[in-house]
Amino acid sequence: MGRLQKILIPFLGLVLAFWFYSARDNFKPEMLKGKRVIVTGASSGIGEQMAYHLARMGSHILITARTEAKLQKVVERCLELGAASARYVSGTMEDMAFAEHVVKEAETLLGGLDMLILNHVGTSYFGYFNGDVGHIRKLLETNFLSYVAMTVSALPMLKQSEGSIVVVSSMAGKVGFPFTVPYSATKFALDGFFSSLRQEFTIQSINVSITLCILGFIDTDSAVRAASHVLLVAPAPRGECALEILKGAALRRRELYYRYGATRLPLLLRDWAAELLDYLVRSRYRLDGLKKS
Ligand code: NDP
Repeated sequence: MGRLQKILIPFLGLVLAFWFYSARDNFKPEMLKGKRVIVTGASSGIGEQMAYHLARMGSHILITARTEAKLQKVVERCLELGAASARYVSGTMEDMAFAEHVVKEAETLLGGLDMLILNHVGTSYFGYFNGDVGHIRKLLETNFLSYVAMTVSALPMLKQSEGSIVVVSSMAGKVGFPFTVPYSATKFALDGFFSSLRQEFTIQSINVSITLCILGFIDTDSAVRAASHVLLVAPAPRGECALEILKGAALRRRELYYRYGATRLPLLLRDWAAELLDYLVRSRYRLDGLKKS
């Protein structure tokens, strides 16, 4: 009986947690109709899919990335899908002046901003940490500082609209992951900055939501190219992932986990069985394909 209780009680807890999160899922696409949204890193992958979902929901969309030709195509597709308006600004997020310029463009072109979706990610390597400090500095600028710069520039508009900030992060920003040391460092930085900022917003009654998105392995071209030969898990679909992020953002969730079972549930181990979680993370890799440092 004692053993049964030990199994049954945590199991019931998980069922209740799952029910609680599902029951709150009352998203309606109209919530994003007419909203003015910036999506960064929208020339490919999850960002591109978010742009298409927003277009179907009738939002005003401003997308950005470096590759102008790809952005042009995404904008054309967004207009076909029914976007209220769709525009792009091309440039690199290594440059903080460009990050601020994108926000200024939203002010000029859209007359304000309801949602800032920070999703872009700079190129890094997949393998053992190579000791390159310069690379970490550069990656922090692209993956972290530009997020901060855009947030600071957008805040007056977001306060006015009582809008939302969406920060696309990763399991690698919540728990130590091998082979992505620089990337993980930048994602942990996002959690520190935006979770602290959320606290200050609450204290000051600033009605701007911050949704931190914790993603597992997603089937974008870049992620599959970088990791599918080493990771023993199947990637989740990018279109569904993009939609879940938008739902979480529209519902002003604190954090969004996708897929829930592959992210939120393992993270329950983090505080009381950290070594077990570390072991489970390591066991998801096939090590024979990796070069030693
Ligand atoms: P992609 O590589 O498909 O897209 C990255 C986007 O960022 C592209 O639009 C790219 O466009 C843009 N970008 C890259 N470098 C720069 C730069 N210097 N300045 C401006 N834009 C840049 O990535 P995903 O869709 O896979 O990832 C999206 C988000 O999801 C990221 O934050 C990532 O960390 C997160 N995530 C993804 C996972 C996955 O398995 N796919 C897992 C966990 C989190 P361009 O090259 O034209 O500039």
